Amino acid sequence: MLHPGACRPETSRGRRHPETPAPTRNAYQRDRDRIVHSTAFRRLVYKTQVFLNHEGDLFRTRLTHSIEVAQIARSVARSIGLHEDLVEAIALAHDLGHTPFGHAGQDALNESLLHADPGGEGFEHNLQSLRVVDELEERYPLYNGLNLSFETREGILKHCSRRNAERLLIDEPDGVAQRFIDRTQPSLEAQLCNVADEIAYNAHDIDDGVRSGLLTLSQLRAVPMFAEPERETVAEFPELAGRRLLFEIIRRMLSRQIYDVIDTTKMAMTAAAPCSADESRQMPTMVAFSPAMARQTHELKRFLRQNLYQHPQVLATTGQAKDVVRELFAAYLASPAEMPGAAPRPGGELRRVADYIAGMTDRFALREHYRLTGRTLFSAPV
Ligand code: MG
Repeated sequence: MLHPGACRPETSRGRRHPETPAPTRNAYQRDRDRIVHSTAFRRLVYKTQVFLNHEGDLFRTRLTHSIEVAQIARSVARSIGLHEDLVEAIALAHDLGHTPFGHAGQDALNESLLHADPGGEGFEHNLQSLRVVDELEERYPLYNGLNLSFETREGILKHCSRRNAERLLIDEPDGVAQRFIDRTQPSLEAQLCNVADEIAYNAHDIDDGVRSGLLTLSQLRAVPMFAEPERETVAEFPELAGRRLLFEIIRRMLSRQIYDVIDTTKMAMTAAAPCSADESRQMPTMVAFSPAMARQTHELKRFLRQNLYQHPQVLATTGQAKDVVRELFAAYLASPAEMPGAAPRPGGELRRVADYIAGMTDRFALREHYRLTGRTLFSAPV
């Protein structure tokens, strides 16, 4: 039931190190399985999405976020004829390069790198996700990384500056970075994972925001994406309140966005009628929200930025998280012997420190910070 414009494992552009196909699994299933068994994947369970790990057991972590993205992407893929195994592999791997402490950790690591090497590359989580699956995982006898298929790696490298693309192309001519030079699209499966990521965090950040007490239903009513399903829910179940009311609104929000993407994408795929995955890549983006839904998601994102991501309480903890990352960076740079597990790699000492910190879970970062500085932040148990 695959659409002609979908990716197919039998016509995959292959792996960087050629391998014999597995007897019972296609190339994308195999990629998915390698990702699930990787060390970086297990670390996602203790990495922050928005709320720091120790703030509560029920908030999303990078792991549960990635699983939700995979669920949404797979259900859309099945209904529009894209390759489910490929979208699952991309979705489960898309955040592997995130630092501890979410975006605050990434910003601090980037600042630390650029401070030490002003002309350098800095730190970018999409590039790091690719680096994790290409270089940093140490599982196979003959090569570094997980040796994933081109199409999975293409989906993982969601953004890339021209400068970084040129650098990646030195090692892999005409590789996954080529599209950032050519300005073409990634596969339809990769496009779908980007949209599924957005749908997932828009919904779960509302849930976590309300759970934390930082967002209220009356605030959320100002956002059409929330207000419309709320009106419907209250009309149908006037007695509903509390968690069940919130869950029902979020469930309807998710459905609206998913059906909107399915309808809009089906129309675009019918109109463009790509005959192969390569033809899909040469066409404008096909997996997308309708313009009306895109406007609503945009408003919701603005609301979440103003009211949740920049809430004084969130900013206070992210400020401390940045201190942890900056101080770890300085400490390891001053005494690299403190990183016994970090293998020397091409890219020099700065990159080695950055890889070591980027790989940490929130908990390990806090423990290391305490060990190296004697200071306890967040009053968190370490
Ligand atoms: Mg994500």
